[in-house]
Amino acid sequence: MELLKKTAAQIKEALLKKEVSAVELVEETYKRIDTVEDKIGAFNSFTKDFALETAKKVDEKIKNNEELPPLAGIPLALKDNINLKGSKTTASSKILENFVSPYDATVALKLKENFIPVIGKTNLDEFAMGSSNENSAFKKVHNPFDTNKVPGGSSGGSAASVAALESYISLGSDTGGSIRLPASFCGITGFKPTYGRTSRYGLIAFASSLDQIGPFGRCVEDVANLYYAIAGYDTKDSTSLNLKVENPLLTLKNDIKGFRVGVIKELLTDDVDEDVRNAVLNAVKVYEKLGCTIKEVSLPLLKHSIGIYYIVATAEASSNLARFDGVKYGYRTENAQNLLEMYTKTRQEGFGDEVKRRIMLGTYALSSGYYDAYYKKAQQMRRLVKEDFEKAFKDVDFLISPTCPNTAFEIGSRNDDPIKMYLTDVGTISANLIGAPAMSIPCGFDKTNMPIGLHLMANCMNDNLLLQAAYNYERETGFNKTLANL
Ligand code: GLN
Repeated sequence: MELLKKTAAQIKEALLKKEVSAVELVEETYKRIDTVEDKIGAFNSFTKDFALETAKKVDEKIKNNEELPPLAGIPLALKDNINLKGSKTTASSKILENFVSPYDATVALKLKENFIPVIGKTNLDEFAMGSSNENSAFKKVHNPFDTNKVPGGSSGGSAASVAALESYISLGSDTGGSIRLPASFCGITGFKPTYGRTSRYGLIAFASSLDQIGPFGRCVEDVANLYYAIAGYDTKDSTSLNLKVENPLLTLKNDIKGFRVGVIKELLTDDVDEDVRNAVLNAVKVYEKLGCTIKEVSLPLLKHSIGIYYIVATAEASSNLARFDGVKYGYRTENAQNLLEMYTKTRQEGFGDEVKRRIMLGTYALSSGYYDAYYKKAQQMRRLVKEDFEKAFKDVDFLISPTCPNTAFEIGSRNDDPIKMYLTDVGTISANLIGAPAMSIPCGFDKTNMPIGLHLMANCMNDNLLLQAAYNYERETGFNKTLANL
């Protein structure tokens, strides 16, 4: 059990000293899963053969004194909307319940190149649509800090598995906050890189202009290493950035004296829970102590982010999800008399309520007569929001705010009010609209001992600066060290 609490850097040391083997590490992880998974529900399926095979290769390399990448042998959980050849990839949807990936996503290939054992595929909100992980077609995920509460979504399984010590690190996808919100609710670190830094090839598309794969971990260093392992240009993704990715570890531990920090005024209003507000205000003091200059920043257009997002994201989703028609792959209805009925019944029976709601909203926003009024307007507004942020980034190096105005809520408590659920993402969505790197790191606990997340955002391409800012905060405060007591 003590072994499972270590960071990847500590484990690597233990591996190299042969205090533990990579195979033993994978086996320990599955033992832990056997003990707690019934209470958490983080996994949709397991990839034990693959994990053990990878671990064996790592042990072989250690035996031969070969160089190993930083995360070789570290058990990782993979969100179940990322293809891993030969494993089931369901996106937590009935429509893909029995779909087996015929190919690897680019990030999955990179995990293999880094000898990182994938232990299983994690539960999510169906097609990554949601903020609480209650929209999975299979089962709900429970928060390791309080199993009556949600873990946040949509990458709830990936976050919960790391917080419950069922994995050390994991990958999620973030379209409007799906890495950062669950990281915040589960007391861990989650990072959404600049749009285009990590390849989307092999990620089941939700909203292509917003989706980005990113890492989770229990400390910033592990997250930085995992980001570096998966990032980089990919000819298979037309929106991939053709720029060299610098190793974040080169600057991670440098101090941040003289960095300019902006505190977003619109995200610290009275709507924010008192404990969350206080934790973020304390974080401001920490940055001051670390030698940063602090400035209040106003982003007047931020209030439109949720409206813009729910037009752009649903429009893109309605188009991306058109491919699930019962013809090419996935579920097909058995009750159709003709082709049209086969399409409609397959989709009616295969998709869950939230996915249907998004498809309807998106189709409406794209329909002739409404396209100009909704989709075009939303894209124009998106540009203005970006300009607002770019202006702010002239004066500050990074922005801070709460990841979410509240901590994790009770399972079931927001189900009948989709708008309230959508508002959960007010702090995270704008980073996706403008393509900027953003992360959530633990910054304290509320009165009920639920974790609070601090949101950091930098201008596009400043991923490494952001990780450095997060690392310095973590080193100063150590809030990441409090683990769930399961
Ligand atoms: N909660 C947001 C939504 O439901 C964001 C989801 C995501 O980032 N995948 O769309």
